[in-house]
Amino acid sequence: MGARLTEYDGLGVRLKAYEGRPAAVTGAGKDPVNAPMIRHWCEAMGDTSPAYRGPDAIAPPTMLQAWTMGGLLGHEGRTGAYDELLGLLDESGCTSVVATDCEQEYLRPLRPGDEVTFDAVIESVSDRKTTKLGTGYFVTTRMDVRVDGEPAGTHRFRILKYAPARRKPPKRRPRPVVNRDNAGFWEGVAGHRLLIQRCTGCGTLRHPWLPGCNACGCLDWDTVEASGAGTVYSHVVMHHPPFPAFEPPYAVGLIELAEGVRMVSNVVGVPYDKVRIGLPVRVEFRTYEDEEGALVLTVFRVVEGEG
Ligand SMILES: [Zn+2]
Repeated sequence: MGARLTEYDGLGVRLKAYEGRPAAVTGAGKDPVNAPMIRHWCEAMGDTSPAYRGPDAIAPPTMLQAWTMGGLLGHEGRTGAYDELLGLLDESGCTSVVATDCEQEYLRPLRPGDEVTFDAVIESVSDRKTTKLGTGYFVTTRMDVRVDGEPAGTHRFRILKYAPARRKPPKRRPRPVVNRDNAGFWEGVAGHRLLIQRCTGCGTLRHPWLPGCNACGCLDWDTVEASGAGTVYSHVVMHHPPFPAFEPPYAVGLIELAEGVRMVSNVVGVPYDKVRIGLPVRVEFRTYEDEEGALVLTVFRVVEGEG
């Protein structure tokens, strides 16, 4: 709660006027409480309780709402008041909806053959609330379920009708996945060194980093520092899908380092449509700052005079 006084909320006052008004009147269950629906429910829920089987079966209490549902064709008994309330919210910009919670009370067991009737009331409309999703109002409806006119249970259902918060796209770079096998590579990059793995068994260079050598199977390795020189071996231009951290279109190159291994990286220094196979490039270390701290990544810049 803020420290300032509650400001006048004209919409809120209009919405509050709907409290206590009916949301559905004298609805009737499309089917009586019945064994096949109970069996399907129990199968779907994995509920094997013997209480829901046999001649003395009761319906699982949590099926309460199931007996009131309108099915694909919907309900007949819905009132204008509920639609008006939602309409007011829509007009005010609260166009999004999320179901937040449901609360049930069971007053007597339901058994196959019971004919269910119900009515629903707009029980409460909250003050204006700001959530992570956006700003809006919680609307609680209460459905009273009856059998032969006697209360059998209540079902409270709460929605948040809200104006979605405008989210700033995160500009932060996705972090590389650093694991035991490639940690040495990223440590090198953090220190502005481009390290290539070298098999100590047969001397084969490899990238990306792997636990073992593809040529001889040897698990021992050391590193050599790349000169940073390379050429564009292949490339693609990314238009779609857009990623928040990158401004499309941009060129992604497969760079062949002078030492012979290849790595995927951005190609910078020329427009995306000027990237060509064979273009000479040189590694550049870029530092990105975000809430997790500094992140150093490699890009390859086209060598001056070659664009
Ligand atoms: Zn090897």
